[in-house]
Amino acid sequence: MPELQRLVVAPTQCQKQQIFLTEAQQHYLCRVLRLGAGNRFIAMDGQGGWYVSEIEASLTTATIIESLYVQTELPIALTLMAAMPKGSGFEQIVSQATELGVSCILPLKSDRTLLNPSPRKLERWRRLAQEAAEQSERQVVPTILDPVNFTTAIEQTKTLDAYCYICVARGEVPHLLSCLLDRDLLSKTAQLSPPQLLSVVIATGPEGGWSDAEVKFAKAAQFQMVSLGSRILRAVTAPIVALSLVASVFENKICV
Ligand code: SAM
Repeated sequence: MPELQRLVVAPTQCQKQQIFLTEAQQHYLCRVLRLGAGNRFIAMDGQGGWYVSEIEASLTTATIIESLYVQTELPIALTLMAAMPKGSGFEQIVSQATELGVSCILPLKSDRTLLNPSPRKLERWRRLAQEAAEQSERQVVPTILDPVNFTTAIEQTKTLDAYCYICVARGEVPHLLSCLLDRDLLSKTAQLSPPQLLSVVIATGPEGGWSDAEVKFAKAAQFQMVSLGSRILRAVTAPIVALSLVASVFENKICV
């Protein structure tokens, strides 16, 4: 049903067959989109549920008409740990990483990161993820975690049992694509079925790159150092290239 507008709602707004719209959602549906009573839209609960819903006469609620079965998610759990670039670069990373299917984004404070985002900035990133999820017809809105230090983030990945890659701009390291096409990794993915998903973590650095200590720390935590090609990519470009490669390999079930 591509012609219907999509709107992310919180699961708590859906009760039985009814959706209780927030004031901002009422404004968006009725003033911005100029929909009225009897008009339909698709409510996405951000956790996989899509519901064709009809605006009620009160304009404050909508009736759920039917549940839709859609599958637009990647067959893996994909986490992006990205050092925060200066300016509004992280906004671009959040929107585009969401379009590419990321499950979780972890903003990193690294040795060469200057940004220390305010709570308002975090709110904005979460809103951008929601908008990008609506636009790209995702079933799930990715989680944007609070920023953490690089070492804390690396420690946290130890609990995930994930395949972890750290993108480094220089040096003789294998290309991410050749690592992803590893036979063992692909056969392990094939053996798992939802809700069990293979976890992949990608780490990308800031404008100034990783410090030597950071790379050493990640290597000690079983991160594989990878290249994204022979050119030096901007800190906002590298995550997009890396996530595109991961999505292509797993979505198309490439076999070696
Ligand atoms: N000033 C750094 C240097 O000279 O090494 C370059 C940093 S680059 C602008 C920002 C980040 O993007 C890097 O830390 C790395 O994670 C990633 N990156 C950029 N180009 C890359 C490439 N060709 N291969 C792998 N990672 C790359």
